[in-house]
Amino acid sequence: MTAATLTIDLSAIAANWRALDKLTECETAATIKADAYGLGVEKVGPALAEAGARLFFVALAEEGVRLRRVLGPGPGICVFSGHMPGDADMIRQADLAPMINSVDQLLTHVEALPGHPFGIQLDSGMNRLGMEPAEWSALRDIALAQQPVMVMSHLACADEPDHAMNRLQLDTFEEMTRGVEAPRSLAATGGILLGEKYHFDLTRPGVGLYGGLPFIDATPVVTLDVPVIQVRDVAAGESVGYANAFVARKLTRVATVAAGYADGLIRAMGGEATFTYEGHRLPVIGRVSMDLITLDVSGIAQTPEHVQLMGQHQSVDTVAEFAGTIGYEILTSLGARYDRVYVT
Ligand SMILES: *Cc1c(COP(=O)(O)O)cnc(C)c1O
Repeated sequence: MTAATLTIDLSAIAANWRALDKLTECETAATIKADAYGLGVEKVGPALAEAGARLFFVALAEEGVRLRRVLGPGPGICVFSGHMPGDADMIRQADLAPMINSVDQLLTHVEALPGHPFGIQLDSGMNRLGMEPAEWSALRDIALAQQPVMVMSHLACADEPDHAMNRLQLDTFEEMTRGVEAPRSLAATGGILLGEKYHFDLTRPGVGLYGGLPFIDATPVVTLDVPVIQVRDVAAGESVGYANAFVARKLTRVATVAAGYADGLIRAMGGEATFTYEGHRLPVIGRVSMDLITLDVSGIAQTPEHVQLMGQHQSVDTVAEFAGTIGYEILTSLGARYDRVYVT
């Protein structure tokens, strides 16, 4: 067996959902877009439903269809991108609630699926999705008369608690939703941590469920163990890997391990990155290749069968830092080639 093993702890995901739920008085949904942040919606969806989530968010109608197949009838499934051309059949058949982003989307929706549930997405300052204040004030009475299932918006800077943008968006959202009877939702993971004012009626965490920052108290979810294929001694002056990017200054013991950028371990993480073995750090040397990475294992006496990139000693955010990115990107880049093991 040469494939690296990606172990996904479903009970940790359930524990993270319950921990985030405990931080608020309101309902807690689950954001499960992009195949549950790369961890597999077929397993993660039922685990979250079992933990108590009754409402789920996805990015695309196609993802909603897949999630409905997994969850069966009952739980609510909301679609951030709203109602796009060609979505009507999926929305109806899979009983999805599109988060309507514009006047055009509202017209498309009520024309194609009159009476079918929908929500409203407002732009409170991020300028990415949702109706802007002027558009909303023109449409508000007509839209509210159709009894949307929720009115929501999204925070741009919630992972920085002291950022002035948070307060600004909170004020804008409150202003835009004053007198609205439908449930209101502003907070994702970061917003939950900003405190009660940001919670409204419903939160919709994503990354915190999967063990990522800004949920610093998250239970780790992902472990990545990579088999060692070969170990060799490299003499001073010899080089390792593409472009001779590493040249040994002294005798160096080099392990070649079975994962690379085709598995989501992006080239940018070379240089800074370390793997671990029983608590020892093993520096990545040379270039990350498509299927292989080389490590300096001179610091350990044993020849390990496996080394670890993510797990007890290094979090997904530590690995993200090696590559100058965020945990979200590392998770959603995890490749299809791993042997995926789900533990409960
Ligand atoms: C992705 C997303 C979420 C979840 O965000 P996290 O930071 O992962 O908790 C919530 N709402 C919207 C609109 C999103 O796009």
